[in-house]
Amino acid sequence: MVSELDTVKSIKQENSSLSYLQTFGRKANIIFLLFAGMGAVVMQSPLWMWSIFFIIIYIVYSAVTCYYHRQLDGREFLCCLVLCGALACVGTLFCNILFQLLLLRMVIRVGQLRAVRAAAIVGAIFALTALIGAKVINENFWMDIAYNLLGMGIVTIMAIHMNFIFRSKKDFVELTRQNSLNFQMAFTDALTGLFNYRAYQEKMAVMQDRYILLIIDIDHFKKVNDTYGHEFGNNVLVHLANIIKNSIRYSDMAFRYGGEEFVIVLPGATEEVGMRIAERLRVQVEEQQFYFEANKITVTISIGVAVRQCGFSAQMVFEQADRALYIAKDSGRNRVEAFVS
Ligand code: GH3
Ligand code: MG
Ligand code: MG
Repeated sequence: MVSELDTVKSIKQENSSLSYLQTFGRKANIIFLLFAGMGAVVMQSPLWMWSIFFIIIYIVYSAVTCYYHRQLDGREFLCCLVLCGALACVGTLFCNILFQLLLLRMVIRVGQLRAVRAAAIVGAIFALTALIGAKVINENFWMDIAYNLLGMGIVTIMAIHMNFIFRSKKDFVELTRQNSLNFQMAFTDALTGLFNYRAYQEKMAVMQDRYILLIIDIDHFKKVNDTYGHEFGNNVLVHLANIIKNSIRYSDMAFRYGGEEFVIVLPGATEEVGMRIAERLRVQVEEQQFYFEANKITVTISIGVAVRQCGFSAQMVFEQADRALYIAKDSGRNRVEAFVS
């Protein structure tokens, strides 16, 4: 059966790869901001003090938001956009790269349609703020704006593509997880968590090896139910299932076959081992004390054991174990009997 744990693990990896991109975007932002800050100081542009001021705000803001959220949200996007705009207005060097990084982070986060909208907003704000901050408006200025807008378009397309790959992988992982859950539910008994009758049939249909089969049936369970109620009966079933789970090996299998009947399959075991396990179970259940209000209640089980030899069908082995169980019941219950041909 597909391991649900593996699927959950890959979902975690999936989410972390998306937030990894966001964190990378933040780090790249800060590196470019420092670069731009150095540029502003070295070039001594007239508004360099303002550049430094906005850069410091930007870095502090990025650090704080990074601390509280891992992913870019709408509010952070707007604040960063305003800060990028302010940097462009005061003519900070390389601030076009900041616009592109911000756009990249936003496009990775949102869907395709919203990504195009985000690109249009970022492009418009970039062009507007560059215009406000421009010292000279000539042909080169417009060429510069056109190149940058082209760059933003390419970033958007690349990011939409990346987003598409990430999201389809995520959808696939989610679908696999859901299928695995449905699959598990179809073969698990809801009350006890053991395999159910359907699982028993599926497993036995493909079982080729020699194995020991134990059929366990609670003694006078109808009376238990009638005296202490169905809820109490359910508790007994859960307890018995737990005792069974704790007394079998990883390679053994336990099933809730029907109402108060359980089946254990011990692949490769000898009859001796099967009888020993059955006897141990019988004693454990007998010694388990159940309480109903002030009453101490003892529940017992009877077990039929059969060996599956090569060439025997699963149905035949079950019938043999069932016959042994019948003998156990007939001989007074709270007993283990092996099938003797
Ligand atoms: P025996 O010793 O011969 O096995 O007697 P018994 O009373 O255990 O056997 P019988 O087949 O007459 O009754 C089985 C009872 O198991 C009947 C039903 O009320 C109870 N039962 C079956 N499924 C459930 C369940 O899911 N929860 C509860 N609480 N009781 C159940
Ligand atoms: Mg029964
Ligand atoms: Mg019974």
